[in-house]
Amino acid sequence: MSTRKTRIGIIGAGPAGLMLSHLLHLSGIDNVVLEARPREYVENRIRAGILEYEVAQLLRETGLGARMDAEGARHDGTNFLVDGVLHHIDFQALVGKHVMLWSQHEVVRDLIAARLAAGGEIVFEAGDVAVHDYEAGSPLITYTKDGVECRLHCEIIAGCDGFHGICRQAFPSGMIVEYDRVYPFGWLGILAEAAPSADELIYANHKDGFALLSMRSPSISRLYLQCAPDEALAAWPDERVWEELARRLGHEGFSLNTGRIFQKSVTAMRSYVAEPMQLGRLFLAGDAAHIVPPTGAKGLNSAIADVVSLHRAIDAYMRHQDDRGLNEYTQRCLKRIWQIERFSWWMTSMMHKFDHHAPFDARMQTAELNYILTSPAGQMTLAENYVGLPLHEYHRS
Ligand SMILES: Cc1cc2nc3c(=O)[nH]c(=O)nc-3n(C[C@H](O)[C@H](O)[C@H](O)COP(=O)(O)OP(=O)(O)OC[C@H]3O[C@@H](n4cnc5c(N)ncnc54)[C@H](O)[C@@H]3O)c2cc1C
Repeated sequence: MSTRKTRIGIIGAGPAGLMLSHLLHLSGIDNVVLEARPREYVENRIRAGILEYEVAQLLRETGLGARMDAEGARHDGTNFLVDGVLHHIDFQALVGKHVMLWSQHEVVRDLIAARLAAGGEIVFEAGDVAVHDYEAGSPLITYTKDGVECRLHCEIIAGCDGFHGICRQAFPSGMIVEYDRVYPFGWLGILAEAAPSADELIYANHKDGFALLSMRSPSISRLYLQCAPDEALAAWPDERVWEELARRLGHEGFSLNTGRIFQKSVTAMRSYVAEPMQLGRLFLAGDAAHIVPPTGAKGLNSAIADVVSLHRAIDAYMRHQDDRGLNEYTQRCLKRIWQIERFSWWMTSMMHKFDHHAPFDARMQTAELNYILTSPAGQMTLAENYVGLPLHEYHRS
């Protein structure tokens, strides 16, 4: 048995847990990260790819922007493809901001490297992680490492362990109210060794279903097709995937680059929020508390927004015994989270084919798209949300 202490025990080495650890370190606050998976797995888990303007700024301000600026790409806008006609939404002209294309696993790699270089502790392959006594004010995390039982005493536990983690589930039954919307479709996603066929993303609303052209690097394309939530991958040999993508993304002057597909998966689409995000000295952040469908590229960004709030609250508490930020953590996060939920739901509703739509609903969707594509005010709404609402809370002290 090994027993020791830290100030903040963080569960999960995804973007939320690692960024919280990094921000706390910059404020001189000792912390330990416990991660169930091996380092190699975490560093190669390809997920999100678009960073909001202020999230990219945060990476730069905290010493994590060099590779992103050298190897990532700045996107000044995005494209909507409707009825075979391409419409460009120019974020820079509309709201004076851009987003960065920089893969989540690259952010994670830089965060891990920075933490380890600074002497930070990340325990990979931590087994049987469990949280105790956080309501009583003397939090304890137990786990196993290489067969040894370990006890980590801390002042605060940050549950950054994703949607399927243990922290949210540790709340006593009835403590959490869940708000949930499961969409009647999924995304069949591929990663392919193919140069991106466009400079910026293309969101396609097609009569046969949504498609998205995205990218992860100058040589890797990330492409998606709307499908059934339980779609069988066996029904989608590579040729069928490419044919369908070419059909749904086709427009004048466009040609789809193809290449070896090295990952193929189906992702279900869901909006979910758990309230509250805290109990005693246990705080949830990121996917542990809320998820969005990927249509608005918000999952990673809202995980970062949460830990920016949590870091600020912890910093005020540790430095000045001011616990207002901690007490108001849920309330402060939820304001922004519900805006993100609304945007992701709106993008999803506007871009997908809904089989159950009555003719009236279908006309409403068309009207919504027409408004966004023809009205500067409509485009500005889209741009403002896409580049990201202000993080507000971030203070590096
Ligand atoms: C397949 C997939 C594709 C996605 N694509 C996009 C996209 O294109 N755009 C977008 O914006 N978002 C996307 N997302 C969402 C985005 O990746 C998440 O919102 C983001 O990872 C949230 O970060 P997080 O740190 O909160 O959680 P996570 O990244 O899930 O990190 C949680 C960490 O906790 C660890 N963990 C879990 N349980 C335990 C435990 N018991 N003990 C210790 N550690 C534990 C996990 O191994 C993981 O490392 C995608 C998600 C998935 C699953």
